[in-house]
Amino acid sequence: MTKISTQLSAVHERIRAACQAHDRPDGAVALLAVSKTFGADAVQEAFEAGQIEFGENYIQEAVEKITTLQHLPLVWHCIGPIQSNKTRLVAEHFDWVHTVDRLKIAQRLSEQRPPALPPLQVCIQVNVDGGPTKSGVPPEDALALAQAVAGLPRLRLRGLMCIPEPAPDFDAACQVFKRAKDLFETLKAQGLKLDTLSIGMSADLEAAIASGSTLVRVGTAIFGARH
Ligand SMILES: *Cc1c(COP(=O)(O)O)cnc(C)c1O
Repeated sequence: MTKISTQLSAVHERIRAACQAHDRPDGAVALLAVSKTFGADAVQEAFEAGQIEFGENYIQEAVEKITTLQHLPLVWHCIGPIQSNKTRLVAEHFDWVHTVDRLKIAQRLSEQRPPALPPLQVCIQVNVDGGPTKSGVPPEDALALAQAVAGLPRLRLRGLMCIPEPAPDFDAACQVFKRAKDLFETLKAQGLKLDTLSIGMSADLEAAIASGSTLVRVGTAIFGARH
């Protein structure tokens, strides 16, 4: 086994153990492999070990990898900040976007999504811990943005995504993730059809799974330290 396939198995085992420990059914939590800064060869290796879904932060770097690997049946998620001048690249190359936090960006993505492709799958990024400089819509504005996004023709709203500050321990991480989970349930109770709560990374995926994550975004634990 290669190093990537060994580490991928270890992450699957962590997810399985966390699901068991926190009464989540098997298969309730999907794994997104975050391949930013790693080359197409690393993605290919993870694919050969069974990984299909990949997350990228830097649009230009991602588009190169996506193009190089277009012969493989991969699913690409944009998890980095999106400037207005990058929406067309995202709309043309990605399957998912986790980082929509402004209606203007969502409108551009919808207008620029090529008609031949399925709708772009979207999560709204929410700033649950209130960091003033971070991206993400404030929780109190999430419902209005979600309703507007749900009405755009070439987008399909799937859920919420959060990147809280690293927490000192498991309980502190759960407290912050619970705000995301509560908001997710509130939006569903308002009639939005959501199935994706994108929370949890290498260091805190257990706390995220305990709190209701349906998708963990894991880079370092699969590919190693970033260069
Ligand atoms: C880099 C990144 C990750 C992966 O982080 P690791 O700690 O390496 O698992 C997850 N989500 C986002 C938004 C990222 O930018």
